[in-house]
Amino acid sequence: MALHKGPERHEERPMSVNPFFGEANPVGGMTEAPPTHRLPDAPLSPTTAYQLVHDELMLDGNSRLNLATFVTTWMEPQAGVLMAECRDKNMIDKDEYPRTAELERRCVAMLADLWHAPDPAAVVGCSTTGSSEACMLAGMALKRRWLKRNADRYPGARPNLVMGVNVQVCWDKFCAFWEVEARQVPMEGDRFHLDPQAAAELCDENTIGVVGVLGSTFDGSYEPIAELCAALDALQERTGLDVPVHVDGASGAMVAPFLDEDLVWDFRLPRVASINTSGHKYGLVYPGVGWALWRDKEALPEELVFRVNYLGGEMPTFALNFSRPGAQVAAQYYTFLRLGREGYRAVQQSTRDVAGSLAGRIEALGDFRLLTRGDELPVFAFTTADGVTGYDVFDVSRRLREGGWLVPAYTFPANREDLSVLRIVCRNGFSHDLADLFMADLTRLLPELRRQQGPFTRDKGAATGFHH
Ligand SMILES: *Cc1c(COP(=O)(O)O)cnc(C)c1O
Repeated sequence: MALHKGPERHEERPMSVNPFFGEANPVGGMTEAPPTHRLPDAPLSPTTAYQLVHDELMLDGNSRLNLATFVTTWMEPQAGVLMAECRDKNMIDKDEYPRTAELERRCVAMLADLWHAPDPAAVVGCSTTGSSEACMLAGMALKRRWLKRNADRYPGARPNLVMGVNVQVCWDKFCAFWEVEARQVPMEGDRFHLDPQAAAELCDENTIGVVGVLGSTFDGSYEPIAELCAALDALQERTGLDVPVHVDGASGAMVAPFLDEDLVWDFRLPRVASINTSGHKYGLVYPGVGWALWRDKEALPEELVFRVNYLGGEMPTFALNFSRPGAQVAAQYYTFLRLGREGYRAVQQSTRDVAGSLAGRIEALGDFRLLTRGDELPVFAFTTADGVTGYDVFDVSRRLREGGWLVPAYTFPANREDLSVLRIVCRNGFSHDLADLFMADLTRLLPELRRQQGPFTRDKGAATGFHH
């Protein structure tokens, strides 16, 4: 065995200790309470730091009882393991992590097939941080296409985008950020989403496209995409205007292909230029992934695609971000592989079954009127029945919080600002059993609500945060 000699020089410096290892750091004032709004002077031990952060986060509530969000709150442990294994991989480093890039490519191919692209090889698509980024990219492609067709008139002419007033806030953002006029079809009576005819009438030579939403955020209803395309076909025959459609399928593009196979809303319609979805909604992946697909290269102008060589390789990218975690893409591929069509169908069907049965039971209470029944997206909106005057939806939302249930209450946009609703988003993991417990809580607090002399909630905005 080797014969070790002692140090030759006695003044050798001590081992270098990473300041992260607070425990080993002789200057770490570990017993002092760290400040919350400036960097502490000294490190803490990892155990102490973990416990402090963990304890504060306990007050966030239980995500599984959050009936406001569309975003996945439960995945299998194996998916969690896979995501932990990939948390150090940056999605942009396509040359360094070629297998992650390949999984992204396969997911795009699977979605192209799922959404009936007539020529899957022609489809271009990418992963994003979510539908918001995907919608920005799709909107930019529409604007650029319009600009190329109208180069002689721009910047004089102001581009516009036609949509229902019920669009998710990302479309208002798109219009504000990219200086496009938002032309919104209002709600009328019991129509809570876009009307195809009204949309076609709003189009003119400066319309970059029409957005159809598969699965309205406000009430879970599908917008009539095929009828919208037909109305725009008729418009083209009448006027020569050829207006492309983007389908915002944030939720529905991962529901309809499995449960409503006969519904024609996707690339089967020649007018549909692009589609987005949120992998982290009914794609069944934890937050942080969306998808955007274009029918072909013509739909996505080449000038928007960037190639950088400083990572090695020359992979074309279309994205707002540069760095982004790769774990969600691996988890999406895992879920596709794990469930397949049959698995997705079974999961989405049971979620829709829970939504339908819960909606029916709420209706049967007699206190509420359903606006939707959870038979499109597994999402439904309801309001108080006509005779109910002692309490309102904001009271119901507030009282449900006592049991930990988060059910948002909010008012509808133009022209139904008079209507206030509650909305329940059923997701994978919200089982019949949990729905039973929810019904028990709602039924228990109704007698007290019925005894109220009038709605309690004065400040409706503060009563309940409505997050799309
Ligand atoms: C959720 C949603 C969005 C935004 O999606 P994120 O993935 O949360 O960014 C856009 N459009 C619709 C219809 C949505 O439901």
